Amino acid sequence: MSERAYYLDEGLPAPVPETDGLSRPYWEGLQREEIFVQRCDKCQNWQWGPEWICHKCHSFDLTWTKVEGQGRIYSWERVWHPVHPALKDQGPYIVVLVEMPEYGNIRMIGNLLGDPEQDVRIGAEVNAVYEHHKDNDPPFTLLQWAYS
Ligand SMILES: [Zn+2]
Repeated sequence: MSERAYYLDEGLPAPVPETDGLSRPYWEGLQREEIFVQRCDKCQNWQWGPEWICHKCHSFDLTWTKVEGQGRIYSWERVWHPVHPALKDQGPYIVVLVEMPEYGNIRMIGNLLGDPEQDVRIGAEVNAVYEHHKDNDPPFTLLQWAYS
């Protein structure tokens, strides 16, 4: 991991749960270094991102369930052009889509920590890294990834 406090330059909008509270368990879990995703009580389907109903059986009975922070790189992109003014001096940086085989192959997004010009391998195993922004008001934590 680099010597920077955060993987991306500061100044991006801070993530917050939707006003209806749908994703609140996810964001609160990250602050405790826990990952919560939804699982359907009726058909046992795992799903990410958060929704009010199950994508598979349309049940409203979803339970936020803790998962282990391990997965494999499903896809990735090395970003060279800033997508936000706060990132004007940032590039390149790596965005990964991480698949979690233990949990119905749900896919979560984040940055791949380390050298932004490192080799990235599809299928490589990665572990969750919790990037805490404790000085923000309110504080938040980002889910990032690093090679196992
Ligand atoms: Zn279901």
